[in-house]
Amino acid sequence: MTTDRTSELAENLAGVEARIAAACAAAGRPREEVTLIVVTKTYPASDVRILHGLGVRHVAENRDQDAAPKAAACADLDLTWHFVGQLQTNKVRSVVGYADVVQSVDRLKLVSSLSAAAEKSGRELGCLLQVALDAESGERGERGGVAPDGIEELAAAVDAAAGLRLDGLMTVAPLAGPYAGRQRAAFDRLMDLSSALRATRPAANMVSAGMSADLEEAVAAGATHVRVGTAVLGVRPKLG
Ligand SMILES: *Cc1c(COP(=O)(O)O)cnc(C)c1O
Repeated sequence: MTTDRTSELAENLAGVEARIAAACAAAGRPREEVTLIVVTKTYPASDVRILHGLGVRHVAENRDQDAAPKAAACADLDLTWHFVGQLQTNKVRSVVGYADVVQSVDRLKLVSSLSAAAEKSGRELGCLLQVALDAESGERGERGGVAPDGIEELAAAVDAAAGLRLDGLMTVAPLAGPYAGRQRAAFDRLMDLSSALRATRPAANMVSAGMSADLEEAVAAGATHVRVGTAVLGVRPKLG
């Protein structure tokens, strides 16, 4: 089925692909090192289906209420679903029903809750620890995330948790604090934290960073996964 929306998404996707390819070339990295995750939040299941037809295999959502019915409507497609939003423990059971990877693991209580749900469903769930580069020691970020000095404790908890697999780190470039407006410095810091994590856990090598506005900086720093919404699907209505 070719529609105007299909052409629009194909064009946008090609634009994002060209940006990723150029950023990889500039950084001397092979294109295959970077995986595009399309953030489909606020957009309908029909768009997910079109994107799949255009070759997209990784999608992300940030709210269970929207994501659960969308994932159910797309259950016939071979897609990897990433959950990237702040996650309340009362939503965990639902999220574990469709998510392959939760990128927003940021507290011990969430680890135990995810582990219980993963075990119950008999699935192994990939986990990224969300790092808040603007959070003070022991605090969590405004938009979720563990402070850098809390990574080790959380990583050890995921290591020890049945049903969970530690895949790496994720961040959202901070809007405030010392990294505000300094995406490259923020992503370099995330890479340093990733190196420290990989020193003892080499398999936890995913680094999820970069969105529509700053994917080049993330690729330059070494990100393995970029999460792009607006540049593929269009500007979201407010409240996204
Ligand atoms: C919405 C969202 C994105 C995508 O942002 P765009 O600016 O639309 O590309 C990436 N990561 C997270 C965690 C998000 O919530």
